[in-house]
Amino acid sequence: MDITAITRKLAGCSCGREHTATLKSAEIGHGLTEDTGAILASRRFPRNIIIVADKNTLSASEGILPSLDRTGFDYTIKLYDDLRTADIAQVNEVILAARDREGILSVGTGSLNDICRYAAFLSGRRFAIFATAPSMDGFASHSAPITDGGFKTTYPAVEPDVLIADTAVLAASPAQLKAAGFGDMAAKYIALADWRVSALLTGEYYCENIANLTREALRRITALADRVTGNDEETAGAIMEALVFTGVAMKLAGCVRPASGAEHMISHFWEMKKLEAGELSDFHGKKTGVATMYLSRLYHALADIKSIEAQADRIDFDELGRVFGDNFIDGVIKMNTPPVTDQLTPGILEERWPEVCRIVREEVPPPEGLRELMLKAGAAIKPEDIGISTALAQNGYRYHAYLRHRLTLSRLIPMIKNPGPLPTE
Ligand SMILES: [Zn+2]
Ligand SMILES: [Zn+2]
Repeated sequence: MDITAITRKLAGCSCGREHTATLKSAEIGHGLTEDTGAILASRRFPRNIIIVADKNTLSASEGILPSLDRTGFDYTIKLYDDLRTADIAQVNEVILAARDREGILSVGTGSLNDICRYAAFLSGRRFAIFATAPSMDGFASHSAPITDGGFKTTYPAVEPDVLIADTAVLAASPAQLKAAGFGDMAAKYIALADWRVSALLTGEYYCENIANLTREALRRITALADRVTGNDEETAGAIMEALVFTGVAMKLAGCVRPASGAEHMISHFWEMKKLEAGELSDFHGKKTGVATMYLSRLYHALADIKSIEAQADRIDFDELGRVFGDNFIDGVIKMNTPPVTDQLTPGILEERWPEVCRIVREEVPPPEGLRELMLKAGAAIKPEDIGISTALAQNGYRYHAYLRHRLTLSRLIPMIKNPGPLPTE
């Protein structure tokens, strides 16, 4: 995928912003494991590197070490058993292991990428990814969610210089990882709707060209839904491209809006509450997919309300304190002072409501259609599919919008007088 070509197309964009990305290209294709050394060398990636992998990801990438040997790379391997979380302790281990090395090659996805991304940032090392599964949209991300003392914080980090993925490896990855990647793409339906709603009501920056590129990526992968779980290189490659693109789209737009809306906040709510209870949560893309299913029900129910009577927004911090608990309420208060609805009057909301409804109908597939699509792709659709209790699910559905200072359609519900019954699950 030629990212330079995408940025060239966006030159002089009508949104007025200059769109630039650090990642210049992502090499996604059949048999690229064998070419890993040659690709890295052609990008002038240092030859003195550390490889960070776990047993699953290294064995999935058979051929990568001979490829590096052939092209004169000098490497050591930091091998984990099965890395499921990214913790500051591992970041420090990688920094230590890389102290005599110039580059870090992360072989894997998710947490394996995140510890390397942050370690590379802290130690000033070059950073590359060999991706083993199309499971989430964070490959090109320039921040890393890392736990420290049981809490997850998002740290500034670096984007990879080089991103390589072999479609044969991606296609052979576990079905649930590929389905999770599909779920993380479905999340973009909600993200785009929230972005447009906020632009409409608060004048937040919005770029139609970037939104369009995201819609195109979505169309391409939804057309392949019934082939997601099979060992299908074309589909796995298409999901990977779509995921990498949406990561780049955030960088191009200079905000997370193209890829992340209320559904990512729900996923984050679940994750932090589970972490607080000392429990691991399921894959990122599974959680965002389940949250997307709920929001499709909620947003279409809202869009069915023809006209509304609006009232001023009012935040009950005592109630939020009970829901979020002592560990998180201070952060929540900070995010909501002043409230994100500060400049939005009830009059404007009433007047523009029909347009809000139109945005939902244009961007978000109706729940029945989305459900069918997700099931075809083998994606999780219910909280119980991902080990989330009904109570936790419902708290996430109801209170997620207070986690960020970012307007979502779900955040507007308290401003609607008598909205009538809305889906709670
Ligand atoms: Zn633009
Ligand atoms: Zn995501």
